[in-house]
Amino acid sequence: MEDLFKKLTSHCKEYGFIYPSSEIYDGLSAVYDYAPNGVELKNNIKTYWWKSMVQMHQNIVGLDAAIFMHPKTWKASGHVDAFNDPLVDNKDSKKRYRADQLIEDYLDKLEAKISKEVEKARAKFGASFDETLYRATNPRVVENKTKQDQIQKRLTDAMTSGDMAELKKIIEDCEIVDPDTGSRNWTEVRQFNLMFNTQLGNIAGEEGKLYLRPETAQGIFVNFLNVQKTTRQKIPFGIAQIGKAFRNEIVARQFIFRMREFEQMEMQFFVKPGEEMQWYEYWKEKRMNWHLALGTPASKYKFHNHENLAHYANAAVDIQFDFPFGFKELEGIHSRTDFDLKSHQELSGKKLQYFDTEANENFIPYVVETSIGCDRMFLAMLSNAYCEEEVPDAEGEASQRVVLKLHPAIAPIKCAVLPLLKNKPELVDKARTIFDELKFSFLCQYDDKDAIGRRYRRQDAIGTPYCVTIDFDTLSDETVTIRDRDTLKQERIPISAIEQIISEKIAWKNLF
Ligand code: ATP
Repeated sequence: MEDLFKKLTSHCKEYGFIYPSSEIYDGLSAVYDYAPNGVELKNNIKTYWWKSMVQMHQNIVGLDAAIFMHPKTWKASGHVDAFNDPLVDNKDSKKRYRADQLIEDYLDKLEAKISKEVEKARAKFGASFDETLYRATNPRVVENKTKQDQIQKRLTDAMTSGDMAELKKIIEDCEIVDPDTGSRNWTEVRQFNLMFNTQLGNIAGEEGKLYLRPETAQGIFVNFLNVQKTTRQKIPFGIAQIGKAFRNEIVARQFIFRMREFEQMEMQFFVKPGEEMQWYEYWKEKRMNWHLALGTPASKYKFHNHENLAHYANAAVDIQFDFPFGFKELEGIHSRTDFDLKSHQELSGKKLQYFDTEANENFIPYVVETSIGCDRMFLAMLSNAYCEEEVPDAEGEASQRVVLKLHPAIAPIKCAVLPLLKNKPELVDKARTIFDELKFSFLCQYDDKDAIGRRYRRQDAIGTPYCVTIDFDTLSDETVTIRDRDTLKQERIPISAIEQIISEKIAWKNLF
């Protein structure tokens, strides 16, 4: 899997998906630029999310709030006081880690030990294997499970109460070592605020202190009444937003999985207090279906309930994805109660209440949020799509291909238009005419460089679902060959049918 991760990162660079930021100056840690194919894929992911949220729901509307917000926003939201990660340094390696993540990795290792033991027993006992009984009685499994539960509880308690000394104690008790060097020489655990800050105009000091938003949600909360009034929405209704967020992450070593500047797609759904759990369940299912509609196998996803609830939530679950480095959070679904609206109301002195005309009463709505990182979704899609394959009936270099089996709706380029030979003006002219016609419908690429096999390989590597080849028959019978990326099948079709075949395959409708 690590090998796959390395291959993916270099594929991203080589085929124009992602570059390190300011690379000529050796890059900037945990900041990346989206390259020409990357920006297309990312835009398509955003479009898919936006359409499924806003276009498909009459009661969800969009918003694009500014990144900078009044500094009091972050006081009210709790980010100034509580948006901290517990960090710990290793004195020998001088490396910095998140204490909670070191402990979670340790818990994952215990889980892996248990699973290994169970799988061994399954192989040994075959059909008669009773997993529940085995888990409850095998001494090694029971011992590891007890240890795991105890540490999980201590971690949850320490994180909830902000007890840094206890986190250090857990690290010591579990004899956790620096993953890089094996050293156990740790500093104390300290709180570290993740918000970047800057200064407004020429106002010095605290007065002019501005933060780069660490989540897009607050722009939605402070606009809640504006939106409700101007769109005349009735509860339940939602506000959706896509935008940049910034976090000064302590550990940022996993490519675009953990960045310091990233993009979120968030939707806050405002509901009647008491109805939030029903909507929480609704959005859990809806969001999982959104992922599965892209054709990714269900085994790549799982729900992970939060043991350790954030200060604002009364229920929270992650949709985890099987990334090349294991199952990790891709999206969060949180029941945020009325925490945010209530704190903004208190600090601003402005009412943020909804008037329910039927019940003839005012109340502060509860909020269920769905929050997904666009960059993590990008990484999930790439790692799921990346395939190395043998090509049947091909020889030499052409017998192997790397193909990105992206869903056609999100693939960066939809169709490549390829004249069979570059030095035949009649083929080139015809190909250009076809390209100029198709470009109005979807993103196409014209390519006449190198042998046709090579051009196919290039399109496979960026996930183009269709290649259209113009040859001498085209000139006499107005047909082309259309090649399917996944089946490698080539069919002869009339030029006039290209647009419709491709449009049907890439239609957003197929996903809803
Ligand atoms: P983690 O525990 O991995 O730090 P989080 O629980 O802090 O994530 P949320 O605050 O719930 O994340 O943010 C919502 C979503 O935003 C996440 O599910 C993730 O997809 C994305 N996200 C959060 N932090 C980052 C980051 N540093 N880089 C890229 N995406 C991120």
